[in-house]
Amino acid sequence: MAFNKNNDLKKLDKKIFLATATMHGEEMKYIQEAYDTNWMTTVGKNIDTAEELICKKVGCTYAVGLSSGTAALHMAAKLAGIDLYGQPQVGHGALEGKRVFCTDMTFDATVNPIVYEGGIPVFIDTEYDTWNMDPVALEKAFEIYPEVKLVVVANLYGTPSKLDKIKEICDRHGAIIIEDAAESLGASYKGIQTGNFGKYNAISFNGNKIITGSSGGMLLTESKEAAEKVRKWSTQAREAAPWYQHEELGYNYRMSNVIAGVIRGQIPYLEEHISKKKAIYERYKEGLKDLPVSMNPFNGSDCEPNYWLSCMIIDKDAMCRQVRSDNEAVYIPQEGKSCPTEILEAIVSVNAEGRPIWKPMHMQPIYRLNPFINKDGNARAKTNAYIEGGCIDVGADIFNRGLCLPSDNKMTAEEQDVVIKAIIECFK
Ligand SMILES: *Cc1c(COP(=O)(O)O)cnc(C)c1O
Repeated sequence: MAFNKNNDLKKLDKKIFLATATMHGEEMKYIQEAYDTNWMTTVGKNIDTAEELICKKVGCTYAVGLSSGTAALHMAAKLAGIDLYGQPQVGHGALEGKRVFCTDMTFDATVNPIVYEGGIPVFIDTEYDTWNMDPVALEKAFEIYPEVKLVVVANLYGTPSKLDKIKEICDRHGAIIIEDAAESLGASYKGIQTGNFGKYNAISFNGNKIITGSSGGMLLTESKEAAEKVRKWSTQAREAAPWYQHEELGYNYRMSNVIAGVIRGQIPYLEEHISKKKAIYERYKEGLKDLPVSMNPFNGSDCEPNYWLSCMIIDKDAMCRQVRSDNEAVYIPQEGKSCPTEILEAIVSVNAEGRPIWKPMHMQPIYRLNPFINKDGNARAKTNAYIEGGCIDVGADIFNRGLCLPSDNKMTAEEQDVVIKAIIECFK
């Protein structure tokens, strides 16, 4: 279907994407340095420096440069599994057969590493306050599965979860936290930066994140032993011997010194990127204030997000009818009302890119058999109800009514106005 409420909208000359890399020049200098000194490998000054700079910025003690945020989360899952259940036998995962509580409304890279280690993700419903893991549902989950000892919590779109509450609950139940701060680098909760709340934490330098290396990630921890383990595992777990000697399972997960050059050049611009993202968020908030919508929320003054993506959610009574299958969406246009599908089409029609809210994990076919716990308990029996429009779980409701807006740092105020106009048009 094509957007058809207004065909006369001004179109952008240059396409505005959801979020792309913003380069500054220094990145090239460090890439060149790696090249000129022949450190075109997974060892070198760029890696060491990028790790040091991230420790300073985030306020953690150890950072280990890896090939991706997903690799960092995998190493975190393995570390936690060994802490809890001991060294697995060859051919077995460190979390084999063990349930792990996970943020439900997130990117699948938050939870897949649990499965790499043989674990069973149990999805915890979302709260409206932050669009992150609901601490009330987490408490409920510990009532249902008191044996669980690991919790993976993500900070969606750069907004910190209620990390103190989640930490308090986990401490009380003797559970380890893995914090997925891939989207929230530079955000803080009660003055502490995200990436510090878990025993093991992950950040990402993927091409669309707040700062980038084109790819790459880091594991952050206070544990020297854990950092050393990950340095070893990520370079094929080689023992100190004259030949390739192996006592443990290895991975080729270490960060490239070329990629690290890009990251090294980007780190000084983190604050600048955040302030641009914040300005984009504020402009949407102001521009959309007369519509029956609101922006993605954060938890008042406790939270300082990095505003990575600006999102909006439509009031329940301003939704036109929209039906989504596994791969398609249709809607019925209606005067004065709209839906994410229509707004995404309107955004495309002016040559920009939005995106649906990350579809919750409990709604993904791959995870259809995994438990899903909301604040009332086991919600699995009822979760198809969102299709009828009668949302009974928070994640499905936000997915149904919300969307991500073009949030590229290089978008000008004038270009953003074109996007805002297109959204306003949807509610006419
Ligand atoms: C991007 C992302 C990851 C994975 O990071 P990569 O570097 O792309 O592997 C993990 N979790 C969340 C929430 C992300 O957005």
